[in-house]
Amino acid sequence: MPAFPKAAHDAVRDTTLRGNLRHATHTIRAKRAHAVAEVSDWAELREAGKRIKDHTLRHLDRYLVQVEEAVTAAGGVVHWAADADEANRIVAELVRATGESEVVKVKSMATQEIGLNEALEAEGIHAYETDLAELIVQLGRDRPSHILVPAIHRNRGEIRDIFAREMGEWGRPAPEGLTDSPAELAEAARLHLREKFLRAKVGISGANFVVAETGTLVVVESEGNGRMCLTLPETLISVVGIEKIVPTWQDLEVFLQTLPRSSTAERMNPYTSMWTGTTNSESDSDSDSDSADGPKNFHLVLLDNGRTDTLADEVGWQALRCIRCSACLNVCPVYERAGGHAYGSVYPGPIGAILSPQLRGTESEIDASLPYASSLCGACYEVCPVAIDIPEVLVHLRERVAQGGTVTREGAKVVLKPAKGHAAERAAMRAARWAFSRPGVLRAGQRLASRTRRLHPRTLPGPGRAWSGSRDLPPVPAEPFRDWWQRTNGGKTDGGKGGAE
Ligand code: SF4
Repeated sequence: MPAFPKAAHDAVRDTTLRGNLRHATHTIRAKRAHAVAEVSDWAELREAGKRIKDHTLRHLDRYLVQVEEAVTAAGGVVHWAADADEANRIVAELVRATGESEVVKVKSMATQEIGLNEALEAEGIHAYETDLAELIVQLGRDRPSHILVPAIHRNRGEIRDIFAREMGEWGRPAPEGLTDSPAELAEAARLHLREKFLRAKVGISGANFVVAETGTLVVVESEGNGRMCLTLPETLISVVGIEKIVPTWQDLEVFLQTLPRSSTAERMNPYTSMWTGTTNSESDSDSDSDSADGPKNFHLVLLDNGRTDTLADEVGWQALRCIRCSACLNVCPVYERAGGHAYGSVYPGPIGAILSPQLRGTESEIDASLPYASSLCGACYEVCPVAIDIPEVLVHLRERVAQGGTVTREGAKVVLKPAKGHAAERAAMRAARWAFSRPGVLRAGQRLASRTRRLHPRTLPGPGRAWSGSRDLPPVPAEPFRDWWQRTNGGKTDGGKGGAE
């Protein structure tokens, strides 16, 4: 994957992509602002969400054990996965144990993060995405480009072509004469997916939240496909990041208000599915479990994959508060122009720029470039329902990339070297520190710069050209500010000379 500047450079040339993104992000952005403005105590809800997440993350060791105990007591089985490979191996073994070779999936960022579909395919197990946008992405052999709207980069005409061309390869073909009307496209997807729902014996999901006090998992969605995957199959496997825990049902109340308004601009989610254990648990002993809803076997795979290391970072840990609402993507001027694919991760936009380099490390070209994929305008922080200070983390990660330093990797402290390509930046910063700590030298340098200002180039040479190629170098004033201040007694007299430029 190329670094973000290269990938973004190519993406912004695609005028169809830019048009699709602009239309979609501006529409969602306006609706979200309206939905949030309806809530008089939004600021208090935001603060409450932040505090609940911070408290949970600080006591994650305790809450994880509580979740394991509660899920086990309800008839489920908990598995612990340190990384993507381990999680994929666990899920593949669980599916193989059922004797099935296909699964239906609820949209899940965690399973995309670990590349589960590809890992299952390598084991001869076909995973079918059932969220409409994920279906479009899967049929188009594409990659998601948005957390909530994975096919945001596609317009209706493109979707029609994908359905008409690909559906027959995967199952029920698209109806003859399919047009790009939303109702027809939705009906084509509904018919195509229905036979997969009714046939599947294994469902795979993520979860938006896990309530520690009862071991209850929660999935919020808009289409009802999640409800089908969570209730029809006999075996349900949920892969969930360890940061998704909330301690109590009362805590959940906060997020069930902030998440739908921040994500789809809805007052509440059309489908909020919650499940605790299995229909075979002791609590069901007085009911007929054969006729009860829901899976008979439930497995919860708790995924670390870099989260514990992220938790150890005193600035970056706040990224784990994220509830994946995608509001930060929809207001980001960089995302709006570059699109999601340029971020080289399942987590695009501002949250991706701080989460991916922490989960994966900053060693690769793409991860070292992501903290720079921002203008630091702060719009992402303003809309975040859990008040993640994304600009603060971006600056923190830029320092790590440019300077190196101590980080936690797989639970151990390691010292990172500075990333390649930042030698000039570091030399400039060292020179600035040297000059700023010597007032006499700084003053002499300012005077010299003022006197020689007509000789200054308008663009920088060498590696500096990349910086000045898209910016105007500010003109140096004819007289340094300090000299002007002294000469004019703080601007009270003209000092016998024209004022500073
Ligand atoms: S960082 Fe905040 S705004 Fe962005 S997806 Fe996460 S919760 Fe939503």
